[in-house]
Amino acid sequence: MSSNPFAVPGLDLGLGTSTPVSEESTFLHTDDTIHEVIIVGSGPAGYTAAVYTARGGLAPLVFEGSIGAGGALMNTTDVENYPGFPEGVLGPDLMGKMRTQAERFGAQLVADDVTAMDLMGEMKTVTDSAGVMHRAKTVILAMGAAHRKLDIPAEEKYSGRGVSWCATCDGFFYRGKDIAVVGGGDSAAEEATFLTRFANSVTLIHRRNELRASKIMVSRVLEDPKITVAWNSRIVDMSGEPTLQSLTLEDTVTGQTREIEVAGLFEAIGLVPRSELVAGQVELSEGGYVKVDGSSTRTSLPGVFACGDLVDDVYQQAITAAGTGCRAALDAERHLANLTRDPS
Ligand code: NAP
Repeated sequence: MSSNPFAVPGLDLGLGTSTPVSEESTFLHTDDTIHEVIIVGSGPAGYTAAVYTARGGLAPLVFEGSIGAGGALMNTTDVENYPGFPEGVLGPDLMGKMRTQAERFGAQLVADDVTAMDLMGEMKTVTDSAGVMHRAKTVILAMGAAHRKLDIPAEEKYSGRGVSWCATCDGFFYRGKDIAVVGGGDSAAEEATFLTRFANSVTLIHRRNELRASKIMVSRVLEDPKITVAWNSRIVDMSGEPTLQSLTLEDTVTGQTREIEVAGLFEAIGLVPRSELVAGQVELSEGGYVKVDGSSTRTSLPGVFACGDLVDDVYQQAITAAGTGCRAALDAERHLANLTRDPS
């Protein structure tokens, strides 16, 4: 793992083969190549930008993240609403197809984290975990968003000891157990439903008396005999030794507290944009999302484009991320064409 304080912990998730990172280079040096475009991130936005820029002959260098490639969809099971797959498609399969498509057109995929970026000048630099600085005329930011945390003191202690952010990764460990999911959106509804395959019971904990998930997901939750919803409830404490055994819930209306016994808690309370590497360079919104110019993907810096969940605090769908990835590629192509026409 990099000691650089700016390291993004895993630009997320992986599959297949990638260009290995040199372990010899322990000091900072600059790669000779000047790339037309570097793409940072490998979810639907990053890979779509890679497909378009590669197909446009720009030979993009794509940093997929050291833990692997594919973004948040690698942690999901069936994706039922991505057009073109009437029977649904497994998240990892969908991402594998996007990745293969990008590679087919000549994208250079690198299984490494970006540890720093300098985007201010005309020549952009992106530094990898070995300290190598890669230069490019344009950069497409597609770092996505990370799971939001509850931010209560006990959460850290039980992380990996009963508290998880990934039902598809950890659900299996809770076979026959009573567990809980916190959240009221599509992710929480989807995780709760998925976890009934393993768990004896699932308590869905939501801070209000109405779920914000889509109607179809709400019906699935409410009709599932294994799922009970704890309405108007927030988690104020966790206990158990050495792993999680119970949660203290506070009623958000009456203030009364009660304990429920669970062996696991899956948190699905939304996302936070992974913009920390570019903070102070491109303009960010109050919530930390990268600001773009109107319906384009242009950031506040010329030659820097942003797409996917990194810019989107509203839709956050695989298909919308892919759509903005396409826009970012086209915006970058246009920018490069203008540079060629007017190099001054
Ligand atoms: P979301 O829609 O933002 O929902 C987050 C949920 O967590 C909300 O119910 C919110 O409560 C709750 N929450 C937020 N902070 C909390 C806290 N500190 N403590 C307790 N609860 C908290 O996030 P999401 O479910 O991850 O979905 C993100 C996006 O991805 C959405 O656009 C969603 O439609 C999409 N998505 C789609 C699918 C699908 O189509 N198959 C699957 C998953 C996600 P409040 O309701 O009170 O605000």
